[in-house]
Amino acid sequence: MSKPINKPTQQITDWLTLFGSTLEQGDFTAAVGLFSSESYWRDLIAFTWNIKTAEGQADIEAMLTTTVAHAEPSGWRIEGEAKSNGDLTEAWFTFETVAARGQGHIRLKAGLCQTLLTAMQELKGFEEKKGRKRVLGIQHVASKNRKNWLTLRQQEESELGYNQQPYCVIIGGGQGGIALAARLRRLAVPTIIVEKNERAGDSWRNRYDSLCLHDQVWQNDLPYLPYPDDWPVFIPKDKMGDWLEVYTKIMELNFWSSTECKGASYNGETGTWQVTVQRKGEIVVLQPKQLVLATGMSGMPKMPDIPGADTFKGTLIHSSRYTTGREFKRKQCVVLGSNNSAHDICADLWENDADVTMLQRSSTLVARSETLFLGSSYSEDSLEAGLSMEQVDMIAATTPYGLMHISEQQSSQSMQKQDADFYRRLTEAGFLLDFGDDASGLYMKYVRRGSGYYIDVGASDLIIQGEIKLRSRVSVARITADSVILTDGSELPADLIVCATGYGSMNGWAGRLISQDVADKVGQCWGLGSKTKYDPGPWEGELRNMWKPTQQPGLWFHGGNLQQSRFYSQHLSLQIKARMAGISTPVYGMEKVHHLG
Ligand SMILES: Cc1cc2nc3c(=O)[nH]c(=O)nc-3n(C[C@H](O)[C@H](O)[C@H](O)COP(=O)(O)OP(=O)(O)OC[C@H]3O[C@@H](n4cnc5c(N)ncnc54)[C@H](O)[C@@H]3O)c2cc1C
Repeated sequence: MSKPINKPTQQITDWLTLFGSTLEQGDFTAAVGLFSSESYWRDLIAFTWNIKTAEGQADIEAMLTTTVAHAEPSGWRIEGEAKSNGDLTEAWFTFETVAARGQGHIRLKAGLCQTLLTAMQELKGFEEKKGRKRVLGIQHVASKNRKNWLTLRQQEESELGYNQQPYCVIIGGGQGGIALAARLRRLAVPTIIVEKNERAGDSWRNRYDSLCLHDQVWQNDLPYLPYPDDWPVFIPKDKMGDWLEVYTKIMELNFWSSTECKGASYNGETGTWQVTVQRKGEIVVLQPKQLVLATGMSGMPKMPDIPGADTFKGTLIHSSRYTTGREFKRKQCVVLGSNNSAHDICADLWENDADVTMLQRSSTLVARSETLFLGSSYSEDSLEAGLSMEQVDMIAATTPYGLMHISEQQSSQSMQKQDADFYRRLTEAGFLLDFGDDASGLYMKYVRRGSGYYIDVGASDLIIQGEIKLRSRVSVARITADSVILTDGSELPADLIVCATGYGSMNGWAGRLISQDVADKVGQCWGLGSKTKYDPGPWEGELRNMWKPTQQPGLWFHGGNLQQSRFYSQHLSLQIKARMAGISTPVYGMEKVHHLG
């Protein structure tokens, strides 16, 4: 006797069946009637070959009408049991398109769809050779011309980029470039990572001595390879650097270290890039079809133009160039800015017995690390409950950006309640505090503008105790030979000035490496168009230009934190593989460019 189906499962199964049949019949009016008036359909390249969220029935109907004939979706099947929570019923499901297999998620309210996620998982005919499908690795026959793994690997390393052109070149071998290259390797896309540093992992090693990752270990895996389960909750930066280096080796990545990209140009007729790199002193021109800028989510360091800076006799640097406070013992140090880097640098200087003052011009969001991660789904609890990191990634993807601020506002509120005493003391110390334009907290600031916050790992207490001196509501008016003059007229003696003043948009890299025309053509990266501070509208509902086609054919941007790099590298690698395989990839809903950078 078959098991009776529970009601929520039946409800979702019925919805999927009906949805599938309306799409097969091309009856998009009926299909959109299955969505509530306030609904969201988030598609990760399965229908749109884009990362796109349609909001509301009209947008959803337009997206269905344009994409379904090409995608030819079918096989809508619930995965596991549906769950009911209050008036919401939700479930995972699988589906297919003509080109791919996908996974999705749905939330129903009163029988109508409120949120739908459709995400491509693998291309048909180009599945990763893993598990039972893995290669044998040896030929069990005697052969005089047999080549062992090492010979073949060395041959590939010596030929790729010289006798054979890579299909894809990734500029930047930080965690982003490395994660993407690992996925492309699995998909047999010949790829070279170009990295100016001497060793893979230097992107972390080169940062200041005291740094540990801010996110917890459960969130930070690279694709395919979990960390050993005794790794610390907060990974020290050099340990992370070593992991990246080992990972490139294990994953057999073609990692060109000590290689700097000097410039790139695109030939629209041949659809080929000319990428000029300097590899250990020698100029090499690579000719890939696809070029990925994984040069760091931040663009060029923003260095303020302060009168008198050229007369300063001490050390004046941007935070990106700060490594240690060791040489500043008992020296007078001034740090401009009050976000993450500024706090970490102030704390590092204090640990090195420097006399340090932070200048805070405008308010900053502070979240205590301990509180921030309370209740995070990336946790040992989730693992023990059988929830993998990849599953948590997918759960996170089910909430469209258009709704995200609501749950984030709630989390931010409970954080403020829990740490009320801490916030009171910080404010009393003169610190200008905020919780985001609409009180939606740290994560929303991160996706909207990538800055404006500090994850407190100790520096806030130093500010409260006066160990890090704080001057708020001021900035620097002028620099003299040995001091800074503040906008309120006061003077601070200075041996070191660190400008923790942030970075430009990632498309600045395109300007520097390709051309300003191309940088302007693709426009700004990151941000949602929320019309909050530093995230001007119009609303786009997904991160601008990240991991999806840009207005410049063959040019992609990749980066973000480890979670984003891990998750979205899958979709980016599938888009690149599809192009290499000659699969038709009509892009739906490419955004207009509104902001130049
Ligand atoms: C204090 C602090 C704590 C953080 N904590 C976390 C955390 O816990 N988890 C997390 O995920 N993120 C964390 N981050 C953010 C994280 O560092 C960045 O998100 C991350 O570095 C982005 O990786 P990426 O590979 O995109 O870029 P990057 O790491 O910046 O790598 C870009 C690479 O491109 C190379 N490059 C640039 N130009 C060229 C060129 N012309 N030719 C060749 N190579 C070039 C650079 O040398 C660099 O190695 C933290 C950052 C800071 C400052």
